[in-house]
This record gives sequence, structure tokens and C-alpha cells, in this order.
Amino acid sequence: LLRLRARLARSQSGLGRGLLAVLSRDRLDEDAWEQIEESLLTADVGVGATSEIVERLRNRTKVLGTRSPAELRALLSEELVTALLPELDRSLHTLPVAGRPAVVMVVGVNGTGKTTTCGKLARVLVADGRTVLLGAADTFRAAAADQLQTWGARVGAETVRGPEGGDPASVAFEAVKAGTAAGVDTVLIDTAGRLHTKVGLMDELGKVKRVVEKQGPVDETLLVLDATTGQNGLTQARVFTEVVDVTGIVLTKLDGTAKGGIVISVQRELGVPVKLIGLGEGADDLAPFDPQQFVEALLG
Ligand code: GDP
Repeated sequence: LLRLRARLARSQSGLGRGLLAVLSRDRLDEDAWEQIEESLLTADVGVGATSEIVERLRNRTKVLGTRSPAELRALLSEELVTALLPELDRSLHTLPVAGRPAVVMVVGVNGTGKTTTCGKLARVLVADGRTVLLGAADTFRAAAADQLQTWGARVGAETVRGPEGGDPASVAFEAVKAGTAAGVDTVLIDTAGRLHTKVGLMDELGKVKRVVEKQGPVDETLLVLDATTGQNGLTQARVFTEVVDVTGIVLTKLDGTAKGGIVISVQRELGVPVKLIGLGEGADDLAPFDPQQFVEALLG
């Protein structure tokens, strides 16, 4: 929690400080409520969620006669956790199933942090005592396979790659095959995220998935989303959820934005739980998403 707080605080304390300043006023007048609303909107909590949170907070403070800043903070914290849908299942399906490795596909627009996320996730799994194989199915970006292989070497995971410009689906197929033969626990497949046409993306990712599924189901499809791209990123993300069955979101670059409230919008808009968050470029900068801890860090 302390590390999370430090990481978020670097860019993020805006929300905490702004809100806490309002909450420590003597009176919660209209102006104060407007500022609370403003702070939440600025943090990308989204219009719908913001008005719900403020409405509930107003009612509860009225009913409870809340006055002290500490009580208000506690109520706000509760409302934010509620808005983060704490009941969602955020477990990762990375455990082997019936004699085959778990297969995890990592999808998203280029530059969001897909390859880095594959590397970090591999590290987490390896540190947990599991064996991992990486599949470099982003065959369009020349450096992507090198980058993934470098991560693999660093964390102790084999990488299966194909010829540059080759068929991503065939690399993914070979990766699952090699992983099954080697008896590894998890195969992580990095995919290409060229945002050309929706049809092109659908064809490409759909094919990767279909071809992989010849050897067994895809257990987890993680959509990587860059927190700094805000509502724009959300629109792009929606295309992916229409193309493949996304089972979890990885929200990256939360260390570089004051818009941590985007977690709330993402889950509301896409209907998919945020499972992991990226808090930096380093190998240890991937954390499971925990609503309670996140709100605590957010409020500083
Ligand atoms: P891809 O094209 O989606 O595979 O993206 P990359 O994995 O190559 O990442 C793009 C850039 O974002 C790289 O410079 C990464 O180091 C950086 N990056 C990825 N995740 C994070 C994160 O959580 N925080 C920060 N600050 N940078 C990140």
C-alpha cells in the first residue's frame, strides 16, 4: 500500500489534496459540492459516476449530520470503493488446466504497454514459482519480438517468435504448442495492436484466437489500456471488447497521470473488471488491483 501510494502520489495527489481541502472547510455549501464534483470529473471518474457519488454523499452527510473532515473523508472513501465495484472477480486465470498450460492473450492499441505488461506479468508468475512461455505474436512491429525476448531472458521465460511480418496466428499457435510440449504452466501471447480498421483488427485478433483455440480455450484475454489517454482510450478499447471476449483490463501508466478515476469509467463503460495496474516501466511495477487500497492511495 505504501508503494502504491508513493507511486500514485507522484502525479496523483491532485485528487486527494483538492478533495481534502474542500472536505476540511467549515461548511459544505453549494460551492463546496461543486468543487467536489469538479475534482472527481478532473480525475476522469466520468460524468455518470460522479453525479451518483456526489448525490449519495450529499444524502448521507445530510442524514448523518456529518461535519468533521475525517468523517466526510471516510464517507467519500466508501462511495469511491462502491463505485469501483469491489465485488467483481479480479482473479487471474493463469493456472494450468487439465494437462495444458493456461493461455493468456494480451491485447490493446500499440504503445499502451502490452509488451511491457507481458514481461512484468511473466515476472510475477515466475516469482510465484510458475513456468511461463512467451509468444511474440506482434509480428508487425519490428522491435516488439526483441523487446519481449529481452523480458523473457530477464525473468527466465522462453520466447517463441516468428519471422518479421509473419502470420501472428501461426506464432501464437506455435507458442501454445511449444508450451504444451514443455509442460509450462502459462503461455502469455503478446499481440499486435495496429489501430487500422475495425474489420482488419477483428480479422487479425479473431484469427489469432481461433487458431489458438484449436489446442484448447483461451483462459484469459487481458486488454491493456493506457490511463493517460482518458476518454479517447476508452473509445478505442471498446473496439477490442467487440472483437474478442475481454476478461480483464490492465490499466497502465497510472504513475504518470492525475486521472486515476479512469478506473471507475473503464469498468462502467466496458463492463470488465480492472485486474492489474501498471505503476511504472520497471519489472516490479505491476500490481493486482484492489479497490480499497486504490482509494486509500488516491485520497493520499
Ligand atoms: P506496446 O506497444 O503496447 O507493446 O507498448 P510497450 O510495452 O512497448 O510500452 C510502451 C511504453 O510505455 C514503453 O516505454 C514502456 O516502458 C511504457 N510503459 C508501459 N507500462 C507503463 C507503466 O505502467 N508506467 C509507465 N510510466 N510507463 C509504462
